[in-house]
Amino acid sequence: MAAAGGATREVINPYDQSVVRTVDEGGPADARAAVAAARSAFDGGEWPSWAPRERAALLRRMAEYLQRDKAEIARLETLDTGKTLVESGIDVDDVTRVFEYYAGQAEADTGRVVDAGDPRVRSRVVYEPVGVCALIAPWNYPLLQASWKVAPALAAGNTMVVKPSEITPLSTIRMVELLAEAGAPRGVVNLVLGDGAATGAPLVESPAVDLVSFTGGLETGRRIMRSAADTVKDIALELGGKNPNIVFADADFDAAIDYALMAVFFHAGQVCSAGTRLIVEESLHEEFVAHLVERTERIRLGNGMDEATESGPLVSAGHLAKVEAYVELGRKEGARLVAGGSRPEDPELLGGFFFRPTVFDDCSRDMRIVQEETFGPILTVERFSDEATAVELGNHTEYGLAGAVWTRDAGRAERVARRLRHGTVWINDFGPYLPQAEWGGFKRSGIGRELGHDGLAEYRQAKHIYENTAPEPQRWFAR
Ligand code: NAD
Repeated sequence: MAAAGGATREVINPYDQSVVRTVDEGGPADARAAVAAARSAFDGGEWPSWAPRERAALLRRMAEYLQRDKAEIARLETLDTGKTLVESGIDVDDVTRVFEYYAGQAEADTGRVVDAGDPRVRSRVVYEPVGVCALIAPWNYPLLQASWKVAPALAAGNTMVVKPSEITPLSTIRMVELLAEAGAPRGVVNLVLGDGAATGAPLVESPAVDLVSFTGGLETGRRIMRSAADTVKDIALELGGKNPNIVFADADFDAAIDYALMAVFFHAGQVCSAGTRLIVEESLHEEFVAHLVERTERIRLGNGMDEATESGPLVSAGHLAKVEAYVELGRKEGARLVAGGSRPEDPELLGGFFFRPTVFDDCSRDMRIVQEETFGPILTVERFSDEATAVELGNHTEYGLAGAVWTRDAGRAERVARRLRHGTVWINDFGPYLPQAEWGGFKRSGIGRELGHDGLAEYRQAKHIYENTAPEPQRWFAR
């Protein structure tokens, strides 16, 4: 359905600022209409009577269609976000596995019998969907972040309104079309396009919405949490990160360099779990940073559609300005700029939102450039001389999304991994996640978990059914 107000928005390719497509731009009336459709599909449609087996089959068909249309979807994602086609293809494969995983979960663990300790009582706990879910996604992994919500929400039997970022709606539009093709009944998956204030906020405020699952920035998360309090909604928040990558001197040097580069410069650093904080052992520091800088300067920026490109542009002019301001701040705070720090001069890149991969050495823990999420290709380097300080630095952040430790000492790896207060810790790796393993934040990185069993639990609520099979008259009150 077209937006009620008739407004449209141009979706811009961040590589050259060309218009990829013009889409509808919704407002509060569209958000309310989408909620009403989801509400009536939940309260009175055919969907609530679908067996878990049928919901699982829907998710499996969706996984099949994602693979069938992989090339087209990956292309849309690259045009919209600027990331390389290889990265977009990996996203589609990952999303496929998430739908497959939740197809299996739809039929698993649907309830249990509880022993009440009384032979006359039959007691069961059953899991039911929460109801109408508002699923609000960011622009950095548009398809992937939306799928981490849509797949478990469907597996659990909810209806939903999906709101992608206004900057990157294209792959989500395609996802919703594919779900319809896969057989999702009308009203179960609704899409609303528009910015946060006009379409996101009305979803959060609506008394007809039972749950909000949001992925995005910390400030928006705070606002959503406050607003959701009025109607006492369930909320799940996946917010930012400032993720330490701790390298001990005994680490595999070449692998640690490769992963440190990937950790921060993949998708131009626009990754919630990006390894933007390199924390390296004093004795290794000089040699490690020298190699890192040399390799950083060779990263090929360009069009994500071009196979030779290793990193694409930032997503928008506004975001580029924010990243530039952080580089300026880093300089002022006394961090030593050793790579990048400016827009590239290559004429091919002048039309896009490019920024050179940047490294700041000699950083200290309380600098804003070390503490705040820049969400750009900016690496800060700090040093440590003992294990306790490495852990202390790794935990010195208000966030707690992800972190890594590099060492050949297995005991130390385990000790550090256990002490880091982050939702995911990698040992001698950086970045992988699994559909069957929970993902989410400690501290201000969020509330709740996506993926894994807990990712499904967000979208279910337990109901206790207690049945007295032999009720007898009682004398509690005088007859
Ligand atoms: P954002 O907070 O600006 O926007 C996210 C979404 O919320 C968008 O769809 C936006 O339109 C909507 N929105 C904005 N204001 C709203 C409001 N008042 N009410 C309801 N919805 C509103 O974030 P962004 O800039 O799109 O994404 C980048 C952020 O996302 C980063 O901070 C990043 O760390 C975070 N992120 C976190 C994870 C994770 O797994 N923890 C994953 C990806 C991104």
